[in-house]
Amino acid sequence: MSTNLESFSSAKALIPGGVNSPVRAFGSVGGTPRFLVSARGAYVTDVEGRDYVDLVASWGPALLGHAHPQTVEAVKQAAERGLSFGASTPGETELAQRVIDRLSPAVEKVRLVSTGTEATMTAIRLARGFTGRDLLVKFAGHYHGHSDGLLAEAGSGIATLSLPGSAGVPAAVAAQTLVVPYNDLDALRIVFSEHGDRIAAVITEAAAANMGVVAPDAGFNAALIDLAHAHGALVILDEVLTGFRVSEAGWWGLDGRDGSPAYTPDLFTFGKVIGGGMPIAAIAGSAKIMDFLAPVGPVYQAGTLSGNPLAVAAGIATLTAADAAVYQHLDRTAAIIASATSEALSHHGVAHSVQRAGNLFSFAFREGAPRTYEQVKQQDAFRYGPFFHSMLDSGVSLPPSVFEAWFVTAAHDDTAVSRILDALPAAAKAAAA
Ligand code: PLP
Repeated sequence: MSTNLESFSSAKALIPGGVNSPVRAFGSVGGTPRFLVSARGAYVTDVEGRDYVDLVASWGPALLGHAHPQTVEAVKQAAERGLSFGASTPGETELAQRVIDRLSPAVEKVRLVSTGTEATMTAIRLARGFTGRDLLVKFAGHYHGHSDGLLAEAGSGIATLSLPGSAGVPAAVAAQTLVVPYNDLDALRIVFSEHGDRIAAVITEAAAANMGVVAPDAGFNAALIDLAHAHGALVILDEVLTGFRVSEAGWWGLDGRDGSPAYTPDLFTFGKVIGGGMPIAAIAGSAKIMDFLAPVGPVYQAGTLSGNPLAVAAGIATLTAADAAVYQHLDRTAAIIASATSEALSHHGVAHSVQRAGNLFSFAFREGAPRTYEQVKQQDAFRYGPFFHSMLDSGVSLPPSVFEAWFVTAAHDDTAVSRILDALPAAAKAAAA
């Protein structure tokens, strides 16, 4: 049996930084990343045979818990029939129908791709093709994947590394993206008044969850859509993280419910939960816009593994099992963990703000709730490392960055939640030191 340290050393010799996605390297919390060998329900197990209650959930996809039996069975059966055909399958239409059932009338057509990055990249190309304009507006602190034009002030991964953006992005490409402070309609108005006739789209996380969780102000999404439409621009609501997680119809499904104005974005992007742990993502919207995609329309998009039958089977099984009872359980469990964590931190005098967006939550180590990326960065982020490691030592795996959301699953039962609650006092004490 090798140790986590040995596994990390071997990986570092062959893989840049030892990881295939930067945040996994524990850069901001220090220490040795856990190398995992299996995951079931609410737990993950590392190479040393230790198990942890998991609040990462594969960064969101494991809505039902890891290795959910119905999802695994669906994937096994699909695998028996063939791993990939490079041709259409009935399952793709079924998954598209499931998405439409949950998001009608805002969604009439769906195109499947393999990652959230591909989904947002394609949605932007589609918005440009549809409007005949070039500029894109994004919000500081929002993450939409790692395509060139979207890495300016892109939240968690980049914030964790304290980078302003990424090297390797041509200046000419970066110049096509205008970055505006989040939750700041006045700033958005100014950008539209200066560049309105050149803006193809505004892309926004439905509720920001990659700078820690920062929900939009009440009415913000509706107002930004009105503003964009008044200038002939489209709005892409990025629900890669929130979609099918915070409600049956994602954040969009929650927003109208609380008395805030209802709205219809032009395009949605989905990922994570839609594949239940397999690589699948989607662009969705009205038929009028979606039919601008090839082969009917002039905007090109393609993928050897798009609509992969195993991923589609996992997605259908996940959306089938994710019923109202699952979302109630997620809401309840998130509320219990968030309030217990807040109590423990308060007990040890650690200033913090509980950041919530539906069943997603995180903690900002500062007085007062941040509403923008600038405010999010003004916190005692150094407190998170000791907090994180104390939880890990007690058998609880949190996201290894203060700028990430915590994810609960349907498999977090009383036993799993108790282990989290028992671990909190020591972790809060460590954060206070
Ligand atoms: N959009 C949002 C809101 C995300 O949270 C992410 C990933 O975390 C992406 C897009 C990119 O998705 P992927 O990592 O599947 O490329």
